[in-house]
Amino acid sequence: MSNTFDLERLTAEAEAALAPAFREIDLQAERATARVMDAFRACRVSAALFAATDGYGYDDRGREVLDEIYARVFGAEAAFVRSAILSGTHALTIGLFGLLRPGDTLLSLTGKPYDTLDEVIGISGEAGVGSLKDFGVKYSEVALTAEGLPDYEGVRAALLADPSVKVAFIQRSKGYLDRKSLSVDEIGELCKIVHACSDAFVMVDNCYGEFVEDKEPSMVGADLSVGSLIKNPGGGMAECGGYLVGTRRAVELCGYRFTAPGVGLEIGASLGQNKNMFKGLFYAPHTVAQALKTAHFAAYLFEKLGFETEPRAKEVRHDIIQQVKCGAPELLVAFCRGIQYGSPVDAFVTCEPWDMPGYGDPVIMAAGTFTQGASLELSADGPIRPPYIAYFQGGLTYESGKIGVLSAVREVLKVMENDAQGAS
Ligand SMILES: *Cc1c(COP(=O)(O)O)cnc(C)c1O
Repeated sequence: MSNTFDLERLTAEAEAALAPAFREIDLQAERATARVMDAFRACRVSAALFAATDGYGYDDRGREVLDEIYARVFGAEAAFVRSAILSGTHALTIGLFGLLRPGDTLLSLTGKPYDTLDEVIGISGEAGVGSLKDFGVKYSEVALTAEGLPDYEGVRAALLADPSVKVAFIQRSKGYLDRKSLSVDEIGELCKIVHACSDAFVMVDNCYGEFVEDKEPSMVGADLSVGSLIKNPGGGMAECGGYLVGTRRAVELCGYRFTAPGVGLEIGASLGQNKNMFKGLFYAPHTVAQALKTAHFAAYLFEKLGFETEPRAKEVRHDIIQQVKCGAPELLVAFCRGIQYGSPVDAFVTCEPWDMPGYGDPVIMAAGTFTQGASLELSADGPIRPPYIAYFQGGLTYESGKIGVLSAVREVLKVMENDAQGAS
């Protein structure tokens, strides 16, 4: 087997074949960087904005300017970005509770939302803990088509049938589902339908999608887009945080939910976190480009090894996630082990599957990251169940991402060679 796969040759072949895709990614990062820098200039970013505030944080100019910059970069009317938003799920929860009231319906337009939202919505979990369901918010969903695309007709019919829909929810990235990620154009199509046949807010779970395309959901009609700063827009710099961008009204309502009605976004000490968030946004288009190249590279190599991938190596991407269908538990474990060995932090650790609370099957995770759980950094995981898919993303630099991918390839090859020997 090792004779068949000359990794050095294969790497050179991959990079030659992917050169046009890499060129496109560089150009796209350049355009997004220009968008970020234009916003910095227009908002007169200066070092004074990086100063820490404490207590109530009234008049924290850095916080106010960063909000304005996010609004501009995402093409929205308003935004808020806070290190006190503790995760993507927290940010999404603020959005959902900010917009929905008792008697309203939350309609998901893209099938089941991300796992961690189940208990927020009340699809699963204990009654009485304060889910949307506990507060009398109903939930329904329109499944994706068999091809994993939005069911536009189904969405239209569901909206027309139920005038209580207040939030039409879209998940841009596949998350950990075996589906396609949506393009911003597809999101725009859904926004058009929602706005034509209801007065619901369109809310987008934007996790993993930021800066992958020239457009963002707020530019095509989304009323609210939400994401995490330890993914794309934090650029690998933000230590923690989340953002919500959208229309003035949607952002105002979410601000009331985030702090308190009447108080809204007037308070919030930045405690010295502003600089990392500014710097992270500055880096984000570039860092996302590094992650995209790493994903293309991984797809190319694993396809050559005979694995099924989604997206395919040469496909245009809509988020930074790469799926590799490992097909056997040992191969999935080997993949993650290799990613861990090829990480800058905790490279000496051998990761093992474990029973993670809330998951039916054991899960394996590789995360040798500077910031805990930061998945713009090289990371991989997958539930130990057929078809044993490794979900892989990140790489703060293409160079290190490539080292991580090659390490995963070597670990997987070892298992394949052992199997081949066992069989012969
Ligand atoms: C990561 C992610 C979330 C939530 O993220 P946490 O920060 O882990 O709470 C939500 N939706 C999608 C699609 C994600 O990828």
